[in-house]
Formats: sequence, structure tokens, C-alpha cells
Amino acid sequence: MTAAQPALFWAPYAWLDGQWKQQVCLQVGPDGHWSDVIAGVASAPEQATVLQGPVLPGLVNAHSHAFQRAFAGLSERRASEQDDFWSWRDRMYGVALRITPQQMRAVAAQLYAEMLLGGYTQVCEFHYLHHDDRGLAYADPATMAWAIADGAADAGMGLTLLPVLYERAGFAQPNLRNDQRRFAGTPDFIAGLQKTVAQSGRPLVNAGVSVHSLRAASPASITRLLEQVGDSDMPIHIHIAEQMQEVRDCLAHTGKHPIAWLCDALPLDARWQLVHATHTEPAEIETVAASGAGIVICPSTEGNLGDGFADLPHWLQHGVPMAIGSDSHVCRQWNEELRWLEYGQRMRLQQRNVAASPATGQSATAGRLLEAALSAGGQAAGQKRWGLQNGARADMLVLNPRASGLLGIPSSHTLDAYVFACDTPAIDAVYVAGQQVVAQGRHLRGEPLARDFLEAMNGLHP
Ligand code: ZN
Repeated sequence: MTAAQPALFWAPYAWLDGQWKQQVCLQVGPDGHWSDVIAGVASAPEQATVLQGPVLPGLVNAHSHAFQRAFAGLSERRASEQDDFWSWRDRMYGVALRITPQQMRAVAAQLYAEMLLGGYTQVCEFHYLHHDDRGLAYADPATMAWAIADGAADAGMGLTLLPVLYERAGFAQPNLRNDQRRFAGTPDFIAGLQKTVAQSGRPLVNAGVSVHSLRAASPASITRLLEQVGDSDMPIHIHIAEQMQEVRDCLAHTGKHPIAWLCDALPLDARWQLVHATHTEPAEIETVAASGAGIVICPSTEGNLGDGFADLPHWLQHGVPMAIGSDSHVCRQWNEELRWLEYGQRMRLQQRNVAASPATGQSATAGRLLEAALSAGGQAAGQKRWGLQNGARADMLVLNPRASGLLGIPSSHTLDAYVFACDTPAIDAVYVAGQQVVAQGRHLRGEPLARDFLEAMNGLHP
């Protein structure tokens, strides 16, 4: 991607400060960030590009394993009496063991192009496929990380690469299983990889670190990794409390629930992102809220894997930052993730508009969920500013006002309709750092990316 050209846009209305504002001028500075965003500009300046539909900010997809895109749709048959997260995982490892760096790049590029079409402009990649298929480090240990970063560049997607510390198969198992050999990493290796990527100078790329889960890394190794991170403000992600078996194992080995253990053992802060956080006790939510840490809910994957429902009302009530992730990529558009998140809660609680909070002036369910995901997503991706505001990267989505689900909807309800009543694509254009990557509902490089993806899929699933 080349440096951004300063540009000026005018939109009939845009999502600013948590609500629709009319007649908005958006100026892109030479650094590809918004230099001026102003509402109430009655007519478009002469040099402005007039956008034809309502403008939304791009969203951060705060949890992704790109290689799992090569597996989406291929695990929907029950092979034995027992089919759960763990049997799914065994089958997922088949792809993880086979994928080459070249295939990784093609799969990531296709996935990220799909995410751009679905309204995400930055992805947090929880990356643990470090080594070759024998479990040996590549000559350049960052080979797979570069494959992901190249895929992001091919698609024009912003990337927060999060190398993952993964060192053991379970609480009582000091080593990885043989089929986990590509994941092996020490705290020093992970910290080194983070530094290499962060200092690479690649456009639209930053880096943080991850811990796979409490079962997959020892307390001593987590502590060692945190020593390496020091007081850097990089994001720190961890899978936690996704599955009841993991919760039971944690209880058996530590005497505590996973989030309680994490909060007691480590000084959590706003850099920390607790991915899934599905199975919680009320006191755990209060402790996370006091720490400043955020959570990342992945509704479509949690539904697909039978994980369970997060306690959304209490996370929101306590003001815990809540980002959205697509994780295994059975879904690549955020409006559907928000819909699933709310529908799951409606079915669980037999209520409607669970996420809304009229008492605090947030009566629109979609608006409250989007606002939560926007600010928490920026935090999860280590972005100091995010959204349609001065200083944030100049990312935006232009909706097609003639999309069937939006046709005839008053502007005040555009977001509600986009989240709950659009079942066909409604994003017309997408810009990242001021540069257009989607036009007329199509990714500008869609055809060559799809070709490379097809070749990779044919190689992975002969
Ligand atoms: Zn995950």
C-alpha cells in the first residue's frame, strides 16, 4: 500500500460520537489519519468526493486465527457419538499441520478481503502456527508471521499480529502433543517475534503478544513473557473460560475459576483482552471491571462450537470494554456477529433488546453494541484512537442506501436495520487509511485473491 493522498469526503450522514450526524465532512491527512471530521456542513465543498450513502467507522475484528478460514464449512458433520469443541479441535489440527507459508498467505488474504467486505478494517491475529510441519523453526523464525502480514497487505487490511505463547497440552501436561508441534514457543521466542514484527516498519501493522490459555502456558512462563513486555503499551490477549472442561480443569489444578485465577495472579490492566470469557462468576466480572481489562466475544464461533453464552448484561452493566471477534471465521461480517450476540441473549433470557440501556440513554440495541465494539476494538488492537474522529486512522464504510434491508428506513434507524434486518450485503465502499479497497460492493483485488485461495484450498483438501 502506498502513502495516503490527502483527500476530502462529504457524506449525507455518518456515525460520530455514538450517533448519526447529518452532513459530515471528513478530511484525510497525509498520514492516512482523519485530520478533520465535522458535522453540519450543509453542502459538499467543491473538491470533496461526495459519498452516496451513510458512513460507518470500520470495526476491529479483535480475534482471528486466519488459517481456520480454510476449514470453515468442513466440520459440520457428526463423525461419532460425541461431537464437541475437543473433537472439532482435533479435526482443525489437520489443517494446522498441513498449511504452508504460501497457502497461509493466500488464505489470510482471501479472509481479510472478506472481512473488509463485512465491515472490518483491522484484525487482531492470534498467531500460533510458528513452525514448519516437523515442528522445527523456519530459517527465518517469523516466516509464518510474514505470510499473514503479506496476506493483510494483499487485501489492504490493518493487522495487529499477536504471537502466541503455547507450550503445553494441559494443566498437568508439561509438553505439547505431537500434533501441536507447530505451536511451540518460549516466552523469549514470542517476545522476539513481537519485536521483529513491531519494528518491521510495515504499513498498517502493529504487534502485541498472546498467551494461548491458562491450560497451555505455565504461570512461570506467563510471568517471564510479561517481564519481557515490561511497561510497553502493547495489547496482551488470552483465551479464557471458553469451555466448561477448561473451567473444571483450572478448578482442579488451581482451586480457582480461570478468570479469578488470572486476576489474582497477575496485575491485569487495559492492555489485557480476555477472549471469550464465556463461563464466569459475578465476582469475576466485577474484578475484571476494576482492572480495566477488556473482553472479546466471538458470537458466531461460540455458537458454532457450542461454547455457551457470555453474561452480556453483566459485562455491559459493569462497563467492561467488549470487542467482537470472528475467531474461526464461519462468519466474516460484524453486523451478523452483533445480531447473533443479541439473539443468543434473547433466547437465553426470553427478553428483547437485552443490550439496550434506556436508563443511560442507550435505548438502541445495535447502537450500544456497536459503540462498545468500536471503543473496545481499538483498545484490543493497540490503537490509541479509533472511529470517525480526528487522529484516528481514516477507515470508513459507506452503506448502500438502496440495499434491500435499508430501503425506506429512516436515517435514525439505519444502524438498527443494518444489524437486524439486512440479510444481503449492504456495504458499498470501504476505505482503509484513506485508500479505497472495496467499491460497489466488491473488493478491488477480489478476483486474483480468490484464485490464489482456491489453489490453496485445493492443496489443503486434495
Ligand atoms: Zn481463538
